[in-house]
Amino acid sequence: MEVVVERLQGHNIKPSVQRIAIMKYLMEHRTHPTVDEIYTALSPTIPTLSKTTVYNTLKILSEQGAAQTLTIDERNTCYDADTTPHSHFLCKRCGRIYDLPCDDAIKKVVDTDMDGHEVQEIHYYYKGICKQCKED
Ligand SMILES: [Zn+2]
Ligand SMILES: [Zn+2]
Repeated sequence: MEVVVERLQGHNIKPSVQRIAIMKYLMEHRTHPTVDEIYTALSPTIPTLSKTTVYNTLKILSEQGAAQTLTIDERNTCYDADTTPHSHFLCKRCGRIYDLPCDDAIKKVVDTDMDGHEVQEIHYYYKGICKQCKED
């Protein structure tokens, strides 16, 4: 619990009960959950929780850099507690999102001339059929 509170405070987020629960869930579930998944998992223990609160909290977490928002799946926005640079692979068959190491050469994009624009986020998305689905 303390780790979660420290993480929120470290990103200037006031640690309310609901925010702590959502951040904790994200840190414990590295499956890139959606708003619906988080809401369904937490609502039995926090009856006052609404989907809007989950959505708004995730928005704050992303804006403050405590989590990252993934738009790899066009049907659902996913969230990731891992904010270090890494790539994502979406399986078109099962919908699972996998973490992949990010190539050092790719990270160098930051150093290229962005014509005066300030880059704040870089996303690397790969899509295909995952190794588990390929075996079936
Ligand atoms: Zn798959
Ligand atoms: Zn990830």
